[in-house]
Amino acid sequence: MSESSVFTRILRGEIPSEIIAETENAFAIRDIAPQAPVHLLVIPKSEQYRDVVELAAGDPALLAELVGLANSLAAEHADGDFRLIFNTGPGAGQTVFHVHAHVLGGGLSEGSLGG
Ligand code: 5GP
Repeated sequence: MSESSVFTRILRGEIPSEIIAETENAFAIRDIAPQAPVHLLVIPKSEQYRDVVELAAGDPALLAELVGLANSLAAEHADGDFRLIFNTGPGAGQTVFHVHAHVLGGGLSEGSLGG
């Protein structure tokens, strides 16, 4: 058995982090190292899928649940507009292999792809 991911440990309360929203199968926290005025992470409760490609193939409804949660959080914490980023693979900056979406909002620069 490999060790539980940092996000599973947060969900279990083993690592402190406020859970700011929750749905049946997903939850959200603030990123510990924010890259934008609003930088949240939306995460499935299960760590079964390591990245968004696996998630989309295995459970598209759960992917849609993540997008819906991101949308409500952007309405609550920013002006409703947001950037949704799934880093996929180490070469793209993924460091936690428990799929999660970065929700960036609030004062993003126009026309930029970066956070
Ligand atoms: P990745 O690099 O895999 O796309 O994103 C992982 C994100 O998780 C990073 O932005 C990192 O700052 C965040 N992160 C890692 N450990 C923790 C933690 O213990 N608490 C919180 N709130 N965020 C974390």
